Amino acid sequence: MMAVLARSVLVTGSNRGIGLELVRQLAASPWPPHHIFATCRHPEGPRGKRRLHDLLEPSSPLLFAPPDTVNVPSIQGAVRAVDSHLKDQGLNLLINNAGVSSHATLHSLDSQEMLSVFATNVVGTLQEFLPLLEKAAKGAGKEGLSCSRAAVINVSTKLGSIGLCLGVLQAPMYPYRASKAAQNMVTRCLAVELQEKGILCAAIHPGWVKTDMGTEEAPLMVEHSVRGILTVLASLSQDTSGTFLDWEGNSLPW
Ligand code: NDP
Repeated sequence: MMAVLARSVLVTGSNRGIGLELVRQLAASPWPPHHIFATCRHPEGPRGKRRLHDLLEPSSPLLFAPPDTVNVPSIQGAVRAVDSHLKDQGLNLLINNAGVSSHATLHSLDSQEMLSVFATNVVGTLQEFLPLLEKAAKGAGKEGLSCSRAAVINVSTKLGSIGLCLGVLQAPMYPYRASKAAQNMVTRCLAVELQEKGILCAAIHPGWVKTDMGTEEAPLMVEHSVRGILTVLASLSQDTSGTFLDWEGNSLPW
């Protein structure tokens, strides 16, 4: 299996679900990153640090930063903590995984809910970590684009694909779908804008996964989804920056 060989990785929303499993598998890899920043908004809570510590080897290269991704000062605090830890090396891989769902329909949705879902799923950590990624891209001594040099990976969903427009009547989810379609556009624009700076950007659909969000009904185990995601990330390059892929590496329409 190909492995992500990034020196440093930051995962948002890492206290449960896909984020937690990303951290677990990265730490358990035969070539773990030197620095894994497992971020969550309530690190001291019952589903925070302690849970991660219980899951991981004591020697895991794990550090905590607590950004609530809708709170800019909290994100800025995390950026400072990560920067000071990494000294001048910058951050290689940012995985924007934190997300919220919403089952609001055309009739039940209200503007406040729409905006709050957008704040988490679209705005999130869009800007603040870019200087750290630029630093990593410059300092990596590597050419081309890859997750080991510098990359932003946005965890998206097929439900946000305008091209597919899947199952609207069964799962209208207006705020969630619209926010993920917007996040997809952000990914596409970032890929164009950051290419020259040596930063890869891509969107990834994890499949329908058994987590709190995906529910027990989902067909895919989180271990399986994340193994696929990490294999896909390891394979990304200049040619696949700016694409929307699923956990098996299949290309999806935006
Ligand atoms: P979960 O609901 O299990 O976990 C969501 C994570 O996001 C939690 O760690 C949660 O933290 C965190 N989070 C939410 N809001 C914020 C915030 N404001 N600041 C910081 N962290 C926040 O979801 P999944 O693991 O299933 O989903 C992860 C990603 O995968 C999401 O982006 C989702 O849209 C996407 N996805 C999931 C699918 C699935 O079937 N599961 C399918 C397609 C896409 P807290 O515990 O503090 O709430």
